[in-house]
Amino acid sequence: MAYITLNKNNFFNNLDIIAEHTKSVDKIALVLKDNGYGHGLLEMSALAKEYGVKKAVVRTCKEAKFIEEFFEYILVLGEIPKNKSDKIRYTINDLKSISKFPSGTKVELKVDTGMHRNGIDVSELQEAFVKIKEAGLVFEAVFTHHRSADELTSEWFWQNDNFKSVKKNSKELAKEFGFSNLRFHSSNSASLFRHVEFDEDMARVGIAAYGCMKLPKSLHVENLKPVLSLYANKVSSRELRKGQRVGYGGDYEANDSCKVSNYDFGYGDGFFRSCANGYKTPDNEELVGRISMDNSSFLSDKDELLIFDDAAQVAPYAGTISYEVLTSLKSDIFRKIV
Ligand SMILES: *Cc1c(COP(=O)(O)O)cnc(C)c1O
Repeated sequence: MAYITLNKNNFFNNLDIIAEHTKSVDKIALVLKDNGYGHGLLEMSALAKEYGVKKAVVRTCKEAKFIEEFFEYILVLGEIPKNKSDKIRYTINDLKSISKFPSGTKVELKVDTGMHRNGIDVSELQEAFVKIKEAGLVFEAVFTHHRSADELTSEWFWQNDNFKSVKKNSKELAKEFGFSNLRFHSSNSASLFRHVEFDEDMARVGIAAYGCMKLPKSLHVENLKPVLSLYANKVSSRELRKGQRVGYGGDYEANDSCKVSNYDFGYGDGFFRSCANGYKTPDNEELVGRISMDNSSFLSDKDELLIFDDAAQVAPYAGTISYEVLTSLKSDIFRKIV
C-alpha cells in the first residue's frame, strides 16, 4: 500500500518559525480542517499537543469532537452546534443564524471585511450584538478572513484597515452590551507573515505549519519545511522494447528499451491524473502514461518510490495549489510519524 510519512522535526521547525512571529505559542491556532490538510487529523493533533499548541481550528462539529482531548480551545468555522460545549467555539457566519445557536454557546462573530464569502457585513455589527445578547450566547471573539493575503498587493492593507474599524466599533459595543474580554483575530498563514509586528490575539495558521506555503504570486518565508511525503510500493516491473506503449490509451511510447514499474497508488488515492504531464519524483524518476485509479507507472525499478515530499512542487503539474494536492489525499492511506 502507498503510505504517507509525517516529519515531526519539520513540523516543529515550522511551529518554531510561526511562534517567533506570533511571539507566543499560545497565539497559534493550528488549522486542522479537512483531515489536517490531508496530513491526518489525529496524527497532527497529537503532534501539535506534544509541541505545546493549545488551540485548533476545524470546519465541522464532528472534527472538533474528535480532537477535543488534544486542545484547550477549538474553533468550528462552518457548523451550528446542537449542544453547547466547554472547549468548542462556533462561528456566526451571518445574522440570521444567530437565533439557531443554543443559549450559552461560546461564539465568535465573523465579519466580512472584503472577501464577501462568509461573515456579517460591517454595517450589521450593532444588530449582531443585539441578537447575540438576545440569544444568550457567550460572545468571545470577532474575526475576519483575508481574500488575498498571499498576493503581494495593497488588498491586505485595505482589509486590515476595515478590520481596525470593526475592532474599534466592537470594543465600544462590547462596553454598551456588557461583553468583556472580546478577542480579535484576522490572520491566516500569509497574513501572519505580512505583519511586521503581530499584535492580534491569535493567528489561524494552516499551510505554513504544513510547510507548503509556496503560492503562485506569494510572499516567500524562509526555512518552512514540508511535513508530508507520499511513498508507493511496486506492484510489478517489466522491460519495455522500443515502440511499446504504457497504460490506458497507450499514451507513453518507449523510445528505447527501458524498465518500467507499476506502483500502488493512483487517482483513487487522491493523486491527480493531470500529473501525468512529465511529472518526475524528487529522485528524478519519470511518471509515464496515464495515472489509473490504483496504479501508476514510473521509469524505475525501485521497490518503494518517494512520489513527492513537497506538495507545492506537485501542484504546478496538476494545475493547482499545494492545499488541493494535500487535501485530496484519502484519509485511509496509512500515515506514519517519522
Ligand atoms: C483555512 C483557513 C485558514 C488557514 O489558512 P492558511 O492559508 O492555510 O494559513 C484560516 N482561517 C480561515 C477562516 C480558514 O478557512
